[in-house]
Amino acid sequence: MRKTKIVITMGPALQDSSKLREILLEADAVRLNASHGDPESRAQVLSAVRALGVELGRHIPIFLDLQGPKWRIGLLDEPVLLEVGSVGVLYPPAMPTPIGFAWAAPLPHPELFEAAKPGQIWLLDDGALKLEVIQSTGAQVTTKVLVGGLLKARKGIHPVGLDVAMDPLTEKDLADIEWGVRYDVDLFAQSFVRGPQDVRQLQDIIKQHGGSQPIIAKIEHPLALAHLEDILEVSWGVMVARGDLGVELGVERVPGLQKRIIRAARKALKPVITATQMLESMITNPQPTRAEASDVANAIWDGTDAVMLSAESATGQYPVEAVQWLVRIALEADFQQQRGTDSIQRELATKIHGRADISVAFSACRTAEEIQARWIVAFTEGGGSARMVSRLAGKIPVLGATTDLSSARRMGLLRGVKALIIPRVESSDEMVEALRELLLAHHELNPGDQIVMTMGLPLWKSGSTNTMKVMGF
Ligand code: PGA
Ligand code: MN
Repeated sequence: MRKTKIVITMGPALQDSSKLREILLEADAVRLNASHGDPESRAQVLSAVRALGVELGRHIPIFLDLQGPKWRIGLLDEPVLLEVGSVGVLYPPAMPTPIGFAWAAPLPHPELFEAAKPGQIWLLDDGALKLEVIQSTGAQVTTKVLVGGLLKARKGIHPVGLDVAMDPLTEKDLADIEWGVRYDVDLFAQSFVRGPQDVRQLQDIIKQHGGSQPIIAKIEHPLALAHLEDILEVSWGVMVARGDLGVELGVERVPGLQKRIIRAARKALKPVITATQMLESMITNPQPTRAEASDVANAIWDGTDAVMLSAESATGQYPVEAVQWLVRIALEADFQQQRGTDSIQRELATKIHGRADISVAFSACRTAEEIQARWIVAFTEGGGSARMVSRLAGKIPVLGATTDLSSARRMGLLRGVKALIIPRVESSDEMVEALRELLLAHHELNPGDQIVMTMGLPLWKSGSTNTMKVMGF
């Protein structure tokens, strides 16, 4: 069984329904990127994924990734070639395209026209392109290309050192949150989180709309690193958002920061997704580079729950092949990692005093390892205990048993966890019996197998794991 989970970003490359079907045979989770596309087509994509999940019998979480306070280039009919040394212009989309420049691109952010000053360096597309501001008139910004390439629509802009405040949740985000609650996405991802207050603010707004979606905090803003533990405390999980992390803090710092963020997530017993440029070359090539394969494996060995594809699956030429390569690399990396309780878990074990639920879960995982159990089964209503057990489990696979479909789907992001929908029964004896029948029916047990269960008694009271039970067959 593959333990590392795979997240794909939806986009035009997956418009073809047979392609989508093929990719969802392997991908575990779906990211809708609110930075691209319109609500109508997003709704179609969402229902297509939901329908395929049912058809394929897979619990696939869908999360809506909110754009957050990030400046972006406007819409372009086609990509614009920025040649090194050429002088081009950025202009408000409402204005006619200025003439007499090597290139021109719309910029839908009035505040940037105000803030632009000669000599400033503007990074575009996660730093792939570099401009120097020559002049700003308040109505257009003239720039010279320092590092050139193809500029595509809606790519991010990062003016180096510019401190223009943007609301942590923009008008667009507010509309997208409403959409996400209405369409019942399983989680939200929040961009440019600076501290726990940003996550709480989003939680409040979700609640105001009648939703209860948990939040994945994207770690990509310098301030988030100073508040990492507090952010982990209030969020469901985090993402190592390596694209903007590299822009904000320097590409050379990304490897170390990745290790630090993943380690903090493991300590907090929260899931973590490693994102951006995992198989970048596969946007145009059918095979990854050795460096990319190593990077994916190393993220897994750092302890990531999931690896994510962005443009590779959304707009690339080989979305299905990219997922198939992730599967291959992850299977091998997971296999190489077949070690029991590792050092971080031991370290954790010394820190869990005082939390009965963590202590019980940890004991269950230890027992499962000692008796070589076939499964650790976490009975979990909101999914919290599956999330915790996932982090503590070591090499024994975890079944997250729940009656709740959305909880089951979210397990698609948890390392080593498989979701199992169970009927809502009255007693723990009935529950164990129902589990036995389901496992046998799904051929998940062989004669002689043992399983270790964690549960909270009384039943159906969330956040109260207090019981461990071993059962043989
Ligand atoms: P983005 O986030 O793709 O929404 O920018 C991920 C990242 O910054 O790496
Ligand atoms: Mn980002």
